[in-house]
Amino acid sequence: NLLPGDPESGPRRREVLGAAWSPVMPTPVAAPVLLAWSPEVAGMLGFDPAQVDDEGFAEVFGGNALYAGMQPWAANYGGHQFGHWAGQLGDGRAISLGEVIAPDGRHWELQLKGAGPTPYSRGADGRAVLRSSIREFLCSEAMHHLGVPTTRALSLVGTGEDVVRDMFYDGHPRAEPGAIVCRVSPSFLRFGSFELPASRGETALLKQLVEACIARDFPELTGQGEALYGDWFARIAVRTAEMIAHWMRVGFVHGVMNTDNLSVLGVTLDYGPYGWVEDFDPDWTPNTTDAQGRRYRFGTQPQVAYWNLNRLAQALSPLFADVQPLQAGLAAYQATFVACTRRDVAAKLGLAAADDADLQLYQRWQQLMQDGGMDMTLAWRALMRIDANAPDASVLAEVFYDAERQHAVQEPLQQWLQEYAARLRADPLPAAERVAKMGAANPLYVLRNWLAQEAIDRAEQGDLGGVHALQDVLRDPYTERPGLEHYAGKRPAWADDRAGCSML
Ligand code: AMP
Ligand code: MG
Ligand code: MG
Repeated sequence: NLLPGDPESGPRRREVLGAAWSPVMPTPVAAPVLLAWSPEVAGMLGFDPAQVDDEGFAEVFGGNALYAGMQPWAANYGGHQFGHWAGQLGDGRAISLGEVIAPDGRHWELQLKGAGPTPYSRGADGRAVLRSSIREFLCSEAMHHLGVPTTRALSLVGTGEDVVRDMFYDGHPRAEPGAIVCRVSPSFLRFGSFELPASRGETALLKQLVEACIARDFPELTGQGEALYGDWFARIAVRTAEMIAHWMRVGFVHGVMNTDNLSVLGVTLDYGPYGWVEDFDPDWTPNTTDAQGRRYRFGTQPQVAYWNLNRLAQALSPLFADVQPLQAGLAAYQATFVACTRRDVAAKLGLAAADDADLQLYQRWQQLMQDGGMDMTLAWRALMRIDANAPDASVLAEVFYDAERQHAVQEPLQQWLQEYAARLRADPLPAAERVAKMGAANPLYVLRNWLAQEAIDRAEQGDLGGVHALQDVLRDPYTERPGLEHYAGKRPAWADDRAGCSML
């Protein structure tokens, strides 16, 4: 399915039938400059630092050149967006350069985001702004260091070209610096990659794609035909449940959980208007375009993932004579999510294991965080300082955003702390182990929107120091270090009206 690009207008935009991808070349940029990179990812891929320092690196990861063997393509996929089937979407601004077999034998797809138009761009420019690219670069790596399954980010390259975008919070178009992130994942296949051929009745292509995905990324699965496909779907469901449980543990809100943004590998994919819960509120969403539907709130993520898995199951159903294996996979999602939540509740509260009564204790704590308007990250860390023999609410003094709401929960909070302390005294974990377990489940440093914004504001003035500093801090999110108080701070007043973020 070759796509001859028109040298004047670039690749033609069209419905791409009967194909899962199209060859496409990145569009060169004026002046690629390497702004940031991940030594961890570079090392994982087998780059040596001299290669990263070489000018050729920015040329390749800015889309101006290819290493030998690279044959770029854009992937075709569809998706359910905001609850509705949206038809063909595809990589409108992402171009995969190729696959690297790392020194350890693992394989990684390298994908440029913002490398110019593709057959799937639907009239848009295929570019990305520095602002959103910094957010994707930093969050990909931050999530990895938090222990959350995610796509990785190798590099952030400035293009030396401006991109015009609507900034939703001021309403005026403005020219912004462009940038390109190189994302890295074993695969970027999404739920929507399978929904698209299914929606077109392209069952042979659907089957071929399923087989290719299993062979490449699920080598542990054996068997064939329906039994194999059923096992594969169950693996996707289990991995998705594990990923969502991690999101809930660390306070991450994806913001655009459309089926085109859910990876079949169960890795967090597509960092757009994501956000981090600050004053605890299950109804909070960072996606200002979802303010009405509130579909993509923090607290609804487990249900939305399940809804998305149902869409995937529906797409796969032509491959099954009997829906039972698909139903079993959906049940595996529920069971896994419940089990992960129980594990995480035990870890976050510092218990050897959590029973049903502990889950209730956890729910009441969440209600207190919500009623009191406590900062989720700081409140959990403060619980690490509770003395089980003399619980005192003063350890929580700094986690509130509002004195009135703090005052309103004083009494139930005291009551809850007494019960929590009694529960800790009854638990077999010694105090030191308890604190260590809590400290490994409750991060202190997360990518708060305003921290990202501070780094972005500096970067737009040409100073990448803020990006590099955040990258360093977020490399070790669970260890409190002196001098990093700023990064463990509550949202400052200036950022209150910018807690949300635009889609682009
Ligand atoms: P997203 O909401 O970022 O997941 O994107 C949904 C769809 O819009 C995907 O097919 C993207 O490739 C496409 N898209 C988003 N931004 C652009 C852009 N600037 N140029 C071309 N396609 C885009
Ligand atoms: Mg997307
Ligand atoms: Mg996106």
